[in-house]
Amino acid sequence: MWHQRADVVVVGTGVAGLVAALAAHRRGRKVVVLSKATETATFYAQGGIAVVLPDTDDSIEAHVADTIAAGAGLCDPDAVTSIVADGYRAVRELVDDGARFDEAEPGRWSLTREGGHSRRRIIHSGGDATGAEVQRALDHAAATLDIRRNHVALDVLYADGAVTGVHVLNSDGPGIVHAPSVILATGGLGHLYSATTNPEGSTGDGVALALWAGVPVSDIEFIQFHPTMLFDGDAGGRRPLITEAVRGEGGILLDRQGNSITAGVHPMGDLAPRDVVAGAIDARLRETGDPCAYLDARGIADFGLRFPTVTAACLAAGIDPTRQPIPVVPGAHYSCGGVVTDVYGRTELTGLFAAGEVARTGMHGANRLASNSLLEGLVVGGRAGREAADHARIAGATTATPIETETRVALPRRKLQRAMSQYASVVRDADGLQQLTAELDAADPRDLDGRAGFEDVALTAAARAVAAAALARNESRGCHHRSDFPDTDPALAHSQVFAAACC
Ligand SMILES: Cc1cc2nc3c(=O)[nH]c(=O)nc-3n(C[C@H](O)[C@H](O)[C@H](O)COP(=O)(O)OP(=O)(O)OC[C@H]3O[C@@H](n4cnc5c(N)ncnc54)[C@H](O)[C@@H]3O)c2cc1C
Repeated sequence: MWHQRADVVVVGTGVAGLVAALAAHRRGRKVVVLSKATETATFYAQGGIAVVLPDTDDSIEAHVADTIAAGAGLCDPDAVTSIVADGYRAVRELVDDGARFDEAEPGRWSLTREGGHSRRRIIHSGGDATGAEVQRALDHAAATLDIRRNHVALDVLYADGAVTGVHVLNSDGPGIVHAPSVILATGGLGHLYSATTNPEGSTGDGVALALWAGVPVSDIEFIQFHPTMLFDGDAGGRRPLITEAVRGEGGILLDRQGNSITAGVHPMGDLAPRDVVAGAIDARLRETGDPCAYLDARGIADFGLRFPTVTAACLAAGIDPTRQPIPVVPGAHYSCGGVVTDVYGRTELTGLFAAGEVARTGMHGANRLASNSLLEGLVVGGRAGREAADHARIAGATTATPIETETRVALPRRKLQRAMSQYASVVRDADGLQQLTAELDAADPRDLDGRAGFEDVALTAAARAVAAAALARNESRGCHHRSDFPDTDPALAHSQVFAAACC
């Protein structure tokens, strides 16, 4: 077993991980960054970053109100205000680190609008390649940091109620990075489903690591399905996203007969919050038996220039979006819940922090507002990095010992994805969730002998948490729709917390 030492270990190299790592490094701490893959969700982000710019007709209050409205009664208003109010500062810091955003005219950023936003407040880059620019800038700024690729974090190690390090697997085999502070920035869990907009590495690892360390997760039943994932028959795995900004610029959602899908469903029509639009598409497809809906973007001027990423993805699938409507279906996209933290990324376990999509700060409630996640990753990532650095300075060096883990179980990945897609998708019910739970309960012991095996175990633990939370929430709210409980129950306007025992 190999051994390394650090003050702060950051797990993940997306927006949250690299911003956290830079912040901890700038506080003078020895930082080691681990990543199991080169791909991040951050790279694939298209639409942009929601941020209130000074000297516009926008306001923190308006952004907070839109976020809380989308969150369907489960946002923590203090957390939302804290994160939104810090957004412009965090974006300026990213610009100082080299990021560039599209300008409407020299010195003034171009702003677009997305579902659920009452104002144009989304800054973007390269048209619809915002994430690639954020990742490029952060990769460049962090180039001198100690970043270790192909390192899989297997366990958070702790003793006497405090973190002591991370158990890691790399090509030399298992090892330990001893450190008093660990930041989970492991992203989402889209690969719980057969088709998702998420990259290969989004397998719920951070949720599993936290649960195994006794740290609770919350709002985990709220998995956002993006209304417009490119449809291509039965193609599974990572699928291209058609950014919401296409609808922001005038694209309209139609069924095969050419009827509007959202007319009469919500006053904001095609720009209603994502759960509403995804639910409307899902309902129409069930009603008609059609395999997909259509996004007609033919009326958008200079489509190829404004949306180069979408254009390339469509052309690769044999669709010319300037001449024909784009076939779309809702796809697993974003985990609104996750590891319970405060707005500084602190978890219940001393020395363990979480930031970005893996964390549940109270920002998103039952449904994330578009483009709020890069914002949260920037703000909370930076704060978690500074907090972790300060904690490491006070705690001093630690020595970790491997923990005796109980036997871990996994369903074969395709089986798990099929069961999740069938029973815990856009619409759920008790019978299906019970069937899902029974299948998960039959999972077999699995050795953590490589990345794939570990991910299957993590996916199974995350799936158990989602199934337990979805089954316990006997109502429809945000992106959790129960056909057997179609109404929102005011008595359930609170988050559920799940600890290791559930999973
Ligand atoms: C197609 C797409 C478009 C999107 N568009 C937008 C948008 O326009 N605006 C917006 O705000 N949000 C958008 N989102 C959401 C947003 O991109 C993500 O929520 C955000 O980038 C997540 O950042 P992160 O740092 O938390 O995780 P990620 O960027 O996913 O990074 C996770 C990192 O953790 C590493 N990792 C995971 N598990 C382990 C492990 N066990 N050991 C070691 N390393 C591990 C991975 O290798 C990776 O480096 C989009 C998402 C997708 C998929």
